[in-house]
Parts: sequence; structure tokens; C-alpha cells
Amino acid sequence: MKIAIVGGGTSGLLSALALEKEGHEVLVFEKNIIGGLCRSETIDGYTMDIGVHAITMLNDGPLVRILKKYSNYLPNFRPYGDYYVRTDDLYRIPVSMQEITTTPVIPKLDKVLITSKILDLMTSGFSKETSVYEVIQDINLSDESYNFFDTICYFLSGENTKKTPLWRLFTGAGYIPEDDIIPFIYKDLKINPLKLSIFKKFNRNRIKKILDDGFLVSIKHGSKNYINKFVNKDRYWSQGYPMGGVQSILNCILYSLDKIQIKMEEVNKIVENNNYNNKRNNKNTKSKILNKNKRYIIKTDKNEYYADIVIYSAPSRYLPDITNIEEIQNIKNDLKNIKYTKSLTVWIGHSENPLNYIGSEIWIDYPCWATCTSNYDKNLAPNGKHLLGFSFVNEKKENALNIIENKLNINLDNADMIHFQEYIPEQASCAIGQFFAYPKIRDDFYIVGTDADPRSMGITRASYSVEVMLSEFKNSFNNEITNNK
Ligand SMILES: Cc1cc2nc3c(=O)[nH]c(=O)nc-3n(C[C@H](O)[C@H](O)[C@H](O)COP(=O)(O)OP(=O)(O)OC[C@H]3O[C@@H](n4cnc5c(N)ncnc54)[C@H](O)[C@@H]3O)c2cc1C
Repeated sequence: MKIAIVGGGTSGLLSALALEKEGHEVLVFEKNIIGGLCRSETIDGYTMDIGVHAITMLNDGPLVRILKKYSNYLPNFRPYGDYYVRTDDLYRIPVSMQEITTTPVIPKLDKVLITSKILDLMTSGFSKETSVYEVIQDINLSDESYNFFDTICYFLSGENTKKTPLWRLFTGAGYIPEDDIIPFIYKDLKINPLKLSIFKKFNRNRIKKILDDGFLVSIKHGSKNYINKFVNKDRYWSQGYPMGGVQSILNCILYSLDKIQIKMEEVNKIVENNNYNNKRNNKNTKSKILNKNKRYIIKTDKNEYYADIVIYSAPSRYLPDITNIEEIQNIKNDLKNIKYTKSLTVWIGHSENPLNYIGSEIWIDYPCWATCTSNYDKNLAPNGKHLLGFSFVNEKKENALNIIENKLNINLDNADMIHFQEYIPEQASCAIGQFFAYPKIRDDFYIVGTDADPRSMGITRASYSVEVMLSEFKNSFNNEITNNK
């Protein structure tokens, strides 16, 4: 099978790796830079990622599962460490019951309200549309606690408390496994999760029970486990940071590829081939023109290419503009309405290191996520220097440096390097009512990327979508082989 992959970011390249190893001919199109957001750039001896990164769901998560199966080696990940919040001092972000009741970050009265509300929500259940804001309003938290949750929401979903579903906070905190939520997301999109091949590898009966019970009841039924996690400080997640920066994930994929072709061209149109002759289903046809057997024509400014299968890993909100295929036009409005958030990252090279610990911190008054990546790998900065990364939500370049100076009490006139980046971390914010494309559009057309799966974040979310695509792809491909026998 000849497979065209549009976009050479994590999701496109992981798809390319897996499908090439499964014996297909793969052609990747990239309009800008290979790696997309999963790469690092080197300036003045500093190696910085596109945005501050932590790799979520690392142990036995989708990225490592795919790499273990298809790549030649695994990148070297270091444990990520803890998350802190900086107010007058640095405190661990409270997640478990004990942490919430002892943290200085939350006012005394609010601690009792929050812990009892979390236990209440876990035992009585809540609706899928319940926002974090509704709960905060209900228990009448102080402005201080409200701002704390608002910032956490921005980092978990890309949106504020009003637009962030409560389940996102619960999965982000590690109380609820991501897979317990996903059947409802797809049911909402009028896709029957039980018919999806992805769920065949999970426990189908469990999924059926979750669906039959409804969201509210299934949260109630899971309450014993969820409460255990909350009380015992356990988490459903594990996180890490790759030595060499996120570029080393990209390098691992690229070094593991054998004969894949990469075209540095922008795809403008994907059309169905009018001359398509489905030789695979019609054994009597003896077409002499090879391209007649290909279903799709991929058009760029430079050329036209033919492919049996398309995997689209670029932002899916642009898909309706570049292809007329019926299944895409049917969801045109949903795709075009996908919401996302932009982020500003500032990288600073400095001889001082005010973030001298393994882990990262958030700031509340000016929502920011900060870490020192050279703490994980000193080779990311020149000898004797440190590489500090700050990703802001809703902040302007002009203000960012002042905020950093004031917060960390550091003089940026002495900085060795300052570099700004503006990117969209995920193609779909995990907001209430958000549409996520399901990776299988038809047997020979798939979508992957951070707008094709609601679970987890960034690279992990992109990897989840690739796993679903691969599972659906194999299902369709095996059916076709069986039908043609
Ligand atoms: C500030 C910031 C912080 C982040 N933090 C984290 C984090 O902590 N953890 C984490 O896991 N992730 C994080 N990420 C996000 C993560 O890196 C991305 O979500 C992930 O790499 C996305 O992969 P993708 O393949 O879905 O998309 P992309 O990387 O966007 O790849 C899509 C590719 O398609 C190409 N393309 C688009 N249109 C076309 C076309 N018409 N023809 C050809 N090519 C096309 C693009 O140029 C791009 O290279 C962060 C990102 C940012 C910006």
C-alpha cells in the first residue's frame, strides 16, 4: 500500500514509522520543518524545545508503547520531578487529600471545602458538562483559590474554569484514568465506541458498562478507586523529560525509519482520483497505468502524487478547505469550530539559576509554567550557564520579561540569550463542547494529531491518536485482505 502522510510532526512521523515497519510504502509531506512542535532549536549554544515540555503518561503510555514496538531504541527519559506553585515561596502543587489540607497555597477555610467537595463529587458523580467553575461557585471559594484553579485549568485544557470540564481536572490530577472518559466523548460525537476497534483491546464489557451506566453513575461506580487515589497520593500518570530535549524523540523516530520518503512540500489539495480503478476489489481489471489503482491524488505547488491511503496529521480544521471527500464535508462545521489556544514561550540563557531543582513551577497572578531544562541535561546550555523556559498563557511579549524579572528577582540585562516563540501547543483545547475528530474517517482516510483524541496532552495525545489510527487501519486492512482472498 502506498500511504501519503500530510504533516511531519510527532503524529505524522510516528504513523510513518509504524506503517513502514508494517510493510507499507510511506511518503510524508511537510510544509515547514520536520518534527513540527516536537523538535528543539539551537541558538548561541542553547538547545531549546518548541515550548516548555514534560512528557505525560510516560511509563507504558502510548508514545513508549509505539516506540518499543517499532523504533530501534528508546530515548533516555529522566523522571520529571514535582510540580510547584510559586507565591511568596515555592510550594508543591497540592493534589492529594493530605497535600490539600496542609498546603499554604490554599486558605484554611477553602481546604475543608475543597477536600469535602472532591470526596462528594467522587461519591455522587457529576455530569460530563460540569465545569470547574460551577463547582467553585457552588462552594463559594475565595478569590485566591479561584485564581489557583483558573491557572491550573489553563495548563490542563487551554481554557479558563468556565470552559474547562471537571473531568479534565480529575484526569489531570490523576484521580480518574483517561480511558474512563473517552467512551463518553465519542458517544457524544455520535460515534458508537463499542464499534471502534480501539476498544477491542480494552475490556469491552467494562466499556459497555461505563456507557450503559451513563457518565454520572459510572463516576459514582468508580468512586472507591478514585477516592483511594485521592487519599493515598497515588496517580494514574508518570512523567519524564528526554535527555537532549524533545529533539531526541524526533531523532529516535527519524533514525528508526528505513526508506521513507519526505517531501518538503505543502499539500494544497487531496482529491479522489477520477480514473481510480479499484483493482484490489476487481481482480479482472488489468490496468496498465499504475496510478489508476490509486484512490487519492495529493496536490502540492510542485507536483501531484498518488496514494492508496491518506493520513492527515496537520490541523484538521483546514481539512474541509483542501478536500471534498464526503465524510469530511459532513463534519465541516465541527472541524471549522475547533477551538485552540496560543502560547508564548520565553527561553533565557543565564549564569544564574533561580529554578535550581528537578521539576517545574506555575505562577498564578500571570499564568506561566517555568522550568530549567538544563537541570535535566546540562548539555542543553553552554558550560556554566542554565537554560530557563517560561510558557505563558494570554501574555504579551512586552510584559513577559518584566514578569520574569520581578517573579524570580533576576536581572535579565545580564542574560546570555533571550529567545521568544509563539505556537499553538495543541490543535484542540480540551474544553466543554469541544469537537475531536475520530481518527478513522473511512477505510483509507485517517486523521491523527492533538485534535483527534481528547486524552492527556501534547505528544502523548498525538501518540494516542496514532494508536487508534493503527488499530482501525489494521482492522480495515485485514478485512480487505480477507475479502480479497
Ligand atoms: C508552549 C508549548 C508547550 C508544550 N508543552 C508540551 C508538554 O508539556 N508535553 C507535551 O507532550 N507536549 C507539549 N507541547 C505540544 C506538543 O509538542 C505537540 O502537541 C505535539 O508535538 C503535536 O504533534 P502533531 O504531530 O500533532 O502536530 P504538529 O507538531 O503541529 O505537526 C503538524 C505538522 O504538519 C505540518 N503541516 C501543516 N499543514 C500542512 C500541509 N498542508 N502540508 C504539509 N505539512 C503541513 C506542520 O508544518 C507541522 O510540522 C507543547 C507545545 C507548545 C507550543
